[in-house]
Amino acid sequence: MTFTPAAAQRAQSSGALLRHYVNGEFVATATTFPNFSPVDGHELAQVCEADAATVDAAVRAAAAAQRAGWRNTTPAQRADWLHKIADGIEARFDDFVAAEVADTGRPLEQARKLDIARGIANFRTFADLIRTANSEFFETHAADGSELINYVTRKPLGVVGIISPWNLPLLLFTWKVAPALAMGNCVVAKPSEETPTSATLLAEVMHDIGLPRGVFNLIHGHGPNAAGEFLTRHPEISAITFTGESRTGSTIMKTVADGVKEISFELGGKNAAVVFADADFDEAVAGVLKSSFTNAGQVCLCSERVYVERPIFERFVAALKEKTEALRIGAPDDPSTTMGPLISRGHREKVLSYFRLAVEEGATVVTGGTVPQFGDARDQGAFVMPTIWTGLADNARCVKEEIFGPVCHVAPFDSEDEVIGRVNDSAYGLAASVWTTHLARGHRVARQIETGIVWVNAWFVRDLRTPFGGTKLSGIGREGGRHSLDFYSELTNVCVRIA
Ligand code: NAD
Repeated sequence: MTFTPAAAQRAQSSGALLRHYVNGEFVATATTFPNFSPVDGHELAQVCEADAATVDAAVRAAAAAQRAGWRNTTPAQRADWLHKIADGIEARFDDFVAAEVADTGRPLEQARKLDIARGIANFRTFADLIRTANSEFFETHAADGSELINYVTRKPLGVVGIISPWNLPLLLFTWKVAPALAMGNCVVAKPSEETPTSATLLAEVMHDIGLPRGVFNLIHGHGPNAAGEFLTRHPEISAITFTGESRTGSTIMKTVADGVKEISFELGGKNAAVVFADADFDEAVAGVLKSSFTNAGQVCLCSERVYVERPIFERFVAALKEKTEALRIGAPDDPSTTMGPLISRGHREKVLSYFRLAVEEGATVVTGGTVPQFGDARDQGAFVMPTIWTGLADNARCVKEEIFGPVCHVAPFDSEDEVIGRVNDSAYGLAASVWTTHLARGHRVARQIETGIVWVNAWFVRDLRTPFGGTKLSGIGREGGRHSLDFYSELTNVCVRIA
C-alpha cells in the first residue's frame, strides 16, 4: 500500500519538485531535500532548499512591492484580496485536503473540517475585521491651556517574516499570512520543512488570482543555519512572527535582538486538564480523550497532564482507557481511522524515548506505550499507540516536558487550591481545560490558572477575534482579532492643537 492520492500528486505543483515563490514567480534552487509520507515512508516530493541569495531576493521583492503600492492600498481593497484568496482555496478545496493529508497522514475528515476550513476562515475573518476596525480618539485640555485632539493611525510594519511548524500546517501558516497582508505588509513566509505542500498550493492560489508580485513570497527549507535563520537575520525584515518549539523561539529571539525587530511567538505547552468530581462524567471523558489524542497529540493545546478529583479517579481512568483503546489507528483514506501517524520517524524517536523514560520514572502504563504492527506498508510509517500513564511524581520529566505525542499522564487530586498549584507549577503557560458543573468554581479556577487560554467544559473551540498566545515559555504576545491588527502594524498618535 502506498498512500498518494491522485489529488495530492496534482497538488505538488510542478510534478515532484516543490519550488519557492519569489516576486511572482516559482523558482527552483539547486539543493533539494526529500519529503516523506508519515503513513508508509515513501517519498512524496523533492523540496527546494532556499539559500541565502534566494531568501535575500524574496525579502527584497517584498520590500519593493510594499514601497510600490501595497502599503497604500485601502483596507477595503485588501479585504477584497483576502476574500479572493479564500475563494481560491475554496475552489481547490480537495487539492488542499489531499496536500495536507499527504504531508501529515491525518484523517481526511480532519483536514476537511479543521485544517482547510480554518485556512479559509483565517482570510475571511481578517478581511471582515479590517473593514470595520476603528481607531482611538481623545479630546484633551492640556495643562498649558491648549485644546488638543489625538487620533491614532495605523501603518504597516513593512516586510514580515513568517515561520511556521508542521502540526497544523495551513491553519497556522495562514493565521499569520492573513493578518500580515491585511495590515498592508508584504510577507516572506517559510512553512515547516516537514509540510511544504499546502503552502506551495497557497502560492499557486496567490499567483492565479493575480496578487501583485512580491506581496507574498514563499521560501522552503530548514531552520538553523538555513532558510529560517537567513530570514530572521535579514536586515530588511521588520518583524518575525513564529510558531514552534520554545527552544527555537529562544534561538530566534537572540538572532533578531541585534536588529531590534518586533516579535510574536506562539510556542510549546505542557497543558493540563482538570476534572472535578461534579463534572458531567461522560462529557469530561470525551473531552479529555479529544484534548489528549486529537491529531495524535500534535496540537500545541493538547493536554498531556490530566488531574482528576480523587472520588472519580479510578472510574475516570478506566473509562478513558476504554475510549482510548477504541480509537482506530490507520491511514487517512480509511473512513474508520480516528488517529493517524506522528509527523515523521524522527519525531517518533523522540516520543518513543519518552515512552521508555516514563517506565524508568516509575509510570504505570494504563494503555499503549508501543508501536502498532500492521503487517503492511504502514509499518514503514510513524505510528505509535495512544498512551495513558498513571503513577508519576509531579516532578517527573514526563510530567514536566512537552512530548507532543498521543500521551497523557492522569493523576488524582484532593482540593481546588492543590490542583491550581499543581497546574501552575509548570515552565509553560499555553492552555488548560477545566471540567465542572459548578458554575462559580469554573470561573474561580479559570481566573487563577496562569495560561493564555482556559476552557471550561470545552477544548479547542474559540472565537478568532479573541487573543491567542501563551505565558512563560509558551510565547510572547497575543495574536487574534484586534491583537493581530496591533502586532502587524505601527501605531502613530497624531496630536493636533485646535485651540
Ligand atoms: P520547530 O521549532 O522545530 O520548527 C518550527 C519552524 O521553525 C520550522 O519552520 C523550522 O524550520 C523553523 N526553525 C527551526 N529552527 C530555526 C532557527 N534557528 N531559525 C529560524 N527558523 C527555525 O517546531 P515544530 O517541531 O515544527 O513544531 C512543534 C512545536 O510547535 C511544538 O513545541 C508545539 O507546541 C509548537 N506549537 C505551538 C503553537 C502555539 O500556538 N503556541 C501552535 C503549534 C505548534
